[in-house]
Amino acid sequence: MSDLDQFRQETRAWLEENCPQTMRTPMRSEKEATWGGRNPEYAHPDQKLWLDRMAARGWTVPDWPTPYGGGGLTPGETKILREELARIRARNPLHSFGISMLGPALLKYGTEEQKLGHLPKIARGEIRWCQGYSEPNAGSDLAGLQTSAEDAGDHFIVNGQKVWTSYADKADWIFCLVRTDKAVKQGGISFLLFDMASEGVSTRPILLISGNSPFCETFFDNVKVPKANLVGDLNKGWDVAKYLLGHEREMISAMGLGATGSDALIEAARKGADPLLRAQIALFQVRAQAFKAMSERFIDELKAGRAHPAQPSMMKYYGTELNKTRHELLMAAGGSDALEWESDATHGGAPARTWLRTKANSIEGGTSEIQLNIIAKRILDLPS
Ligand SMILES: Cc1cc2nc3c(=O)[nH]c(=O)nc-3n(C[C@H](O)[C@H](O)[C@H](O)COP(=O)(O)OP(=O)(O)OC[C@H]3O[C@@H](n4cnc5c(N)ncnc54)[C@H](O)[C@@H]3O)c2cc1C
Repeated sequence: MSDLDQFRQETRAWLEENCPQTMRTPMRSEKEATWGGRNPEYAHPDQKLWLDRMAARGWTVPDWPTPYGGGGLTPGETKILREELARIRARNPLHSFGISMLGPALLKYGTEEQKLGHLPKIARGEIRWCQGYSEPNAGSDLAGLQTSAEDAGDHFIVNGQKVWTSYADKADWIFCLVRTDKAVKQGGISFLLFDMASEGVSTRPILLISGNSPFCETFFDNVKVPKANLVGDLNKGWDVAKYLLGHEREMISAMGLGATGSDALIEAARKGADPLLRAQIALFQVRAQAFKAMSERFIDELKAGRAHPAQPSMMKYYGTELNKTRHELLMAAGGSDALEWESDATHGGAPARTWLRTKANSIEGGTSEIQLNIIAKRILDLPS
């Protein structure tokens, strides 16, 4: 038996023993996601058990090095672990902007002290991070941001406002883009990390059409940030920001795969949805399978260092369109029952709320129009 076959066998046995049955069922709403942090919320105690067991093996971040809280797995082993988790339909043990966004950026640009200080806490879900990029008038034109960080000796003084900061009111720390030189646009931005409990940080939730309030306006009023929290060089934060955005887009593109595939749609087709809807579901399934194959190839290329830098834009664009279609079809299949907003049968209106939430997929992390511009310029070589 090859080493990888043996790894698969051992992994399967470990998961069989350690993944609680409740964590092998689809999440019914966003409320069941595990985010960790200083003040963790668990809808079910098994969420904590599952997180702790996976974190103890470093399997919340299987391919990160072990000194940083990772599992130290090779790309081949990581792929097997992913397949085995999918085979038993295991829930993600930890939803985390630390894992999907900040972690990769720190691994590339962080000092050893920053890596050792932050990455293990991310891996164990002890600190919850939020992303301070967008500002009023600086969304797609991100480099237009105005939040300033003034040099004050051994620290910076940060002033300004961010907007659409997802879960800022629940986050412990923020990774934040700040202006350290007003004279240059991209070349005057720096990348800072700081504690949301710092004096002068405040947040105000923004209520959405879905009735939820996942994001906030975030205000900084003379916030003192030690210079040791600067990631990368002063005024070179744009490089870190762009690298992180690639990972964010890759993470968002995974929505195209659906948290638990398309079981509910297949079930609807089986139950005898009308012929037109069945045909739409079939077409969706073909596209979803093609996207899955493309995603696997993309991940392999990424791990081998062969990925085109604009590939995350392709994946983000197509993945988010697919996810929106998935939920349109689920609503069509569910009929008027799926529109129920507060009933127990829909777990508090989960289908309708999730459908409304997917409308934002093609905006967050950079809009579809921006992704298409990147694809046109960098992949198709079209004039800008
Ligand atoms: C659910 C959600 C969560 C988010 N979470 C966060 C977060 O945690 N942290 C954070 O920092 N930000 C977050 N954002 C903000 C997000 O990154 C921005 O909304 C996004 O980058 C778009 O910027 P904008 O809203 O300013 O829109 P604008 O840039 O004003 O765009 C408006 C419209 O104009 C189009 N447009 C703009 N420029 C061009 C162009 N050059 N060519 C063609 N079309 C163009 C856009 O595509 C869009 O359709 C979140 C957004 C959403 C919806």
